[in-house]
Order: sequence, then structure tokens, then C-alpha cells
Amino acid sequence: MRPTAFRIAGERIYPGESKIVALEVARLYDFTEMKVPVQVVRGAKPGPTLFVCAAIHGDEINGVEIVKRLLQSPVLRKISGTLIAVPIVNIFGFNIRSRYLPDRRDLNRSFPGSKEGSLAARLADVFINEIVKRSSHGVDLHTGALHRYNLPQVRASLEDSETRRIAEAFPVSVILNSSLRDGSLRQAAADLNIPTLLFEGGQALRFEESVIRLGLRGVLSLMKEIEMIPRSGYESERRPRAFWAKSSHWLRAPQSGLFTAEVRVGKRVKRGQRLGVITNVFGEHLMEVRATHSGLVIGEALLPLVNRGDALFHVATFEDFGQFQEGEDWSVDEVLSRRGVDL
Ligand SMILES: [Zn+2]
Repeated sequence: MRPTAFRIAGERIYPGESKIVALEVARLYDFTEMKVPVQVVRGAKPGPTLFVCAAIHGDEINGVEIVKRLLQSPVLRKISGTLIAVPIVNIFGFNIRSRYLPDRRDLNRSFPGSKEGSLAARLADVFINEIVKRSSHGVDLHTGALHRYNLPQVRASLEDSETRRIAEAFPVSVILNSSLRDGSLRQAAADLNIPTLLFEGGQALRFEESVIRLGLRGVLSLMKEIEMIPRSGYESERRPRAFWAKSSHWLRAPQSGLFTAEVRVGKRVKRGQRLGVITNVFGEHLMEVRATHSGLVIGEALLPLVNRGDALFHVATFEDFGQFQEGEDWSVDEVLSRRGVDL
């Protein structure tokens, strides 16, 4: 009996084959046909179907590099099941180095999308039907927005045990428990009962080596966890422990002016601790930014020019804050070296 073909974009891909295909999304006003490039890698043996996608926000490019390196990894020759790799979902934004679509819509607020909707809704609809619905698991790769730096972290719903299992495969120190109703890909996938997590780290429009390696390592660990690639006892023993954050909040600028940060991402902060100051351009009217809760700084503004209300620090809070030792540095390089994670 002939093995079943994986059919996508008019192509057939059989076990043991790998193909690059292009999903048709839209024709633009200049007559350009916009297509999402996808590589499907089928193992010789059956197994899970995992999608790994990046650049839903077109300027978040660390994930594009993670997917590229994943596709070059020699372990893909031995996979069981199917990998659907989508290095660039928001092809429109990627080309103009923007988070958004040409209509200024945020693709990650447009899921599950619709056939009759805006460009964003139609792209979301194609992605859900052609990629997500054919998968058993998913990973969505992001970075901080423009001028914002994020500690490498995973966002996942603690409620679903399979999502929890794949989230804990990532060698990050923080997993943010979130089950928002926000039109995100992660939410749309969860509604279809497809365990999906979001990894993010670094900033927009930059490659950051440590974040890329950590993300790649996370995807490969997840593939081991769901038995797409063989597991080695050595690695599972060395997997670092992640802390589940119960919630997170942004600290915002109390006034407009020039912002000087006094802590960085990865720092444990105590309630009431001073994290930075804002003055006017003459150095007057100094106002302090203080932590409202004890927690870990998982995101920071990189641009020192702020208007009142701008987000400055993203702080994750934990049930058991005592697990973070005072003065300890949880920045990515520190975490990796301290935990002996070999990338
Ligand atoms: Zn993003």
C-alpha cells in the first residue's frame, strides 16, 4: 500500500521527503502575489505533526533564524512524524520590517481569521486551515517589540497538561501562565485542542545569538519530549527547572522625560525597590520608578525617551518568590552558564 501523502499548496509530500512549498494568501494592488513559504519535513516513521512558526510580527526576526537553523539540523533526518516549518508568517510586515500588516493590523490579534476579512484575517485563516489544523503541537516564536528587550521566556497555559509538558521542555527560567482571549495564534490553536506555546526573547530587528541558541535548543527539546527525535538520557537529566509565573504587569512612566534604568532584564526586584528615574531635559523634576510588587524583570524599554504612561519594565510575579535568591542574576547568559546548559 502506498503511504499517505501530506498535501499542501498543491504538492504531495511522502514519508522520508522534504519540500518547500508556498501558500497563496492574497494578490496585492500592484498585482504582486503574496505567498507564505513553508518547508514540510516528513520522517520515514509516523509520529506527531509539529508546526514551528516565526515572524507573525514581521519585525521579530530571531525566530526566523531559529527556524533556519532548525531546518539545517542533522537530527531532522531521523525524525518520526512531520515538521511544518514556517520561517515567516507575516510576509507583508517582514518585507517592510514592520510588526504589522499594510492595514496596520496586528496579525496576532486577528486569529482565527476569516475568508472574507481583511488581509490580516485572510492570512490568519490560511494559516489556521493549512498549518494549525493539520498539527498535533505548535511553537510560535516571538521577540520583544521595537525598542523593547525581553528575557527569553515561554508563554503557555498551565491548565492544559500537554501544553505544560511541552513548555517545560524549554530551557528558560520563566514560563508565564497565560490563557488570554486575545485573538492570538496561541489562543486559536488552544480552541482547536492543539497544544501550542509561545517563546520569546530579545528585541525586534536584531539577531541575538544566545536567544537564538536557547530557542533552537527549546524546540529540539520539545521534539524529544513528544518523541519526534530520539531522547538521550544525559540531556533529560540536565534540563534546567523553569518557574511558572502566576501573573505579570507593566510599570509605566509616571511622567514624560528622559529615562535612566537602574536594573536590567533578569533581575529579581523587591516591592518598593527603585528601578530607575525620569527627569526633564534640564535634569529637573526627578521622579522615581519603583517596583509595585516583588518579582523578576522579564522585559524592559530600551528607548530612554518616554512619555507619561509608556511601558518601562515588565515584571513577572510568582507564588513562591523565595525561590529566587537575593542578588541573583537571571539574565540569559547567567542562567545558561549557571545551569550548565550546553548550547
Ligand atoms: Zn511578537
